[in-house]
Amino acid sequence: MGPVKTVKTLRMVNQKEGFDCPGCAWPDPEHRTAFEFCENGAKAVADEAMQAKVTPEFLRKNSVQALAEMSDYQLNNLGRIAHPVYLSPESSTYETISWDDAFNKIASALNACSNPDRAVFYTSGRTSNEAAFLYQAFVRAFGTNNLPDCSNMCHESSGKGLGQTIGIGKGTVSLEDFNHADTILVIGQNPGTNHPRMLTALRDAKNNGARIIHVNPLPEAGLSRFKHPQDYMKGQLKTTKLADLHLPVRIGGDAALLKGLIKLQLEANAVDQDFIDKKTEGFEAMADAARSVSWNEILRDSGLEREDIDKAGEMLSDSKATIACWAMGLTQHRNGVAVIQEVVNLLLMNGHVGRKGAGFCPVRGHSNVQGDRTVGIWEAPSEAFLDRMETGLGFEIPRHHGHDVVHAIEAMLNNEVDVFFCMGGNFLSATPDTDVTAKAIENVGLTVQVSTKLNRSHLVTGKEAIILPCLGRTERDIQASGEQFVSVENSMGQVHRSQGRLTPPSNDLRSEPWIVAQMAQATLGTEHLDWLHLASDYDHIRALMERSLSGFEDYNERVRAPNGFALPNPPKDSQSFATPTGLAQFTEHPLPDVQVSDGEFVLMTLRSHDQYNTTIYGLNDRYRGVHGHRRVLFMNADDMVERGWKSRQKVAITSHFNGDERHSEDWLLVPYEIPRGNLAAYFPEANSLVPLHSTAAVSNTPTSKWIVCTLSDGSANSEEE
Ligand code: SF4
Repeated sequence: MGPVKTVKTLRMVNQKEGFDCPGCAWPDPEHRTAFEFCENGAKAVADEAMQAKVTPEFLRKNSVQALAEMSDYQLNNLGRIAHPVYLSPESSTYETISWDDAFNKIASALNACSNPDRAVFYTSGRTSNEAAFLYQAFVRAFGTNNLPDCSNMCHESSGKGLGQTIGIGKGTVSLEDFNHADTILVIGQNPGTNHPRMLTALRDAKNNGARIIHVNPLPEAGLSRFKHPQDYMKGQLKTTKLADLHLPVRIGGDAALLKGLIKLQLEANAVDQDFIDKKTEGFEAMADAARSVSWNEILRDSGLEREDIDKAGEMLSDSKATIACWAMGLTQHRNGVAVIQEVVNLLLMNGHVGRKGAGFCPVRGHSNVQGDRTVGIWEAPSEAFLDRMETGLGFEIPRHHGHDVVHAIEAMLNNEVDVFFCMGGNFLSATPDTDVTAKAIENVGLTVQVSTKLNRSHLVTGKEAIILPCLGRTERDIQASGEQFVSVENSMGQVHRSQGRLTPPSNDLRSEPWIVAQMAQATLGTEHLDWLHLASDYDHIRALMERSLSGFEDYNERVRAPNGFALPNPPKDSQSFATPTGLAQFTEHPLPDVQVSDGEFVLMTLRSHDQYNTTIYGLNDRYRGVHGHRRVLFMNADDMVERGWKSRQKVAITSHFNGDERHSEDWLLVPYEIPRGNLAAYFPEANSLVPLHSTAAVSNTPTSKWIVCTLSDGSANSEEE
């Protein structure tokens, strides 16, 4: 961005009159510091606000095949897409197209669909509430619920697991609760890289006497040693050891660990019987299911020492207020929903919900992924949700459920999709089974991407493709009625405004709400809504949301409050549960089978510290000691020695699923502190090994944390580095 713009811009991140960080969804404190962002927030802002541009001239000179030779890192660094472009079926280079021509092409393709379900509308979690609401209204007016989104691949298991047990698919704590917790469980999450400002909340909780239990196959630096950069300015040099206990559980061993912790609570009689009797059902069956699991099974599957589990058990049984935080390490498993419900069992036993300092905290990795779902980006909405939406919108909307991400790819593979529209994101790289997904996308007639920067999804397209360049979160958005602001919802259900302040890098960029309105107008006219009027002043969109969504009453007024407002959350607000019986549900789940055959490993994909989802900011992962490389495979040193393999040796990975194999070459071995039999590698590079149909029960989330594979020495066919 250049030095001057850098200071100016970073002073506005996460400030009340500024813009929301386009990074993760960690909440902002009531009292912001002058520099209210983390390193990865700064990277996300700098990445969006970079000055480099991808011009039509550049795209005319560089075919999609030539661009496909570039790495994701190189593609991302080419800069902001400056003008709408079109890739015709006959050509291999993108050409300039006017906005009007683009919308006419999209409208005629959509209206040529023999059935509205032959169009699929994907959403990435950066889309604002206003854009997402207008988008879902258009898609439903068009006649389908084909609204897959990135949460299908991340916290869908949390939504299902919590929805079935406590009646809401969201977390139940506020940021303030962290100051009142005496025990915090952090399971299957690496906040140091993926939600860095959470470390500040953990440090403050620690300073208030909280104990932190970190459950993760890897000993992530953020939970081991933390130093808040601004402390130096206060002369506070001491680092904080956040985790009191690290449990290096085997991949997939969380369910066994949680069974063990539940058994220990039962043995310690650490249960809130009054809460159980008044507010829940199913306790006895759940308790019997836990008692029936032997410690041998628990130690075998978790890979942990009994004494360590006992330590955690003691912390929990003494606790008056426990918060459980989790991320992909729980959700992206075959039993993702079940293991999250074991977390629910563990906390419900002691009434750790709807009490100060206690509750559930699934931490979202995308700045508005929770907001998008709340305002209607949902392929399988409830009847009640659609009833309210229909009343507000004033037109009949389809009731049959649509495609989630995996089903959308299947439909494309079966030539059942004519138009695939993506509101942001990098669908090809974010999804599993990359080669299969690429084939699926190439079956589609027209693919459209609303994007800020080039990525691989612009290079693997339908028969014809359009890129519509949009404004970034950091940029000024001026519509007919003047300057606009949008709103987002963070991980803790707080809705607040975000106002871009920077001058856009090109005059040919448009806002997401404007793009949706123009597309809707071109496709449907004003039969359903006056789309252009709605986009002329986002207060009109918010007024429509007030009528169409529960919890959004007086939205226009309340969103202008300095910290916005909290959406209703019955478990948090009043320990009440919108389940069929009005009681919180204990559930029983058998231990999952986590045994693999001899010679097989379990691989999990993860992020480096220099990436945000599929956006690669750099080639280093300094907290894991990796520099200048991304095709690395973290492996237990004893497993390497056992095979006579050396550090930096090249290997090939083959994943196995239902008799099918997927093969991937040229991975550099890195000896690492990871349980034996477990491996880790970065996505999107390792996504080609994740089978499309290997998904979590109930949530259909791809199992990116559970990939059964074998390794072969790849050094034979690779020149030594
Ligand atoms: S913690 Fe998340 S939201 Fe906050 S600045 Fe960092 S990346 Fe952005």
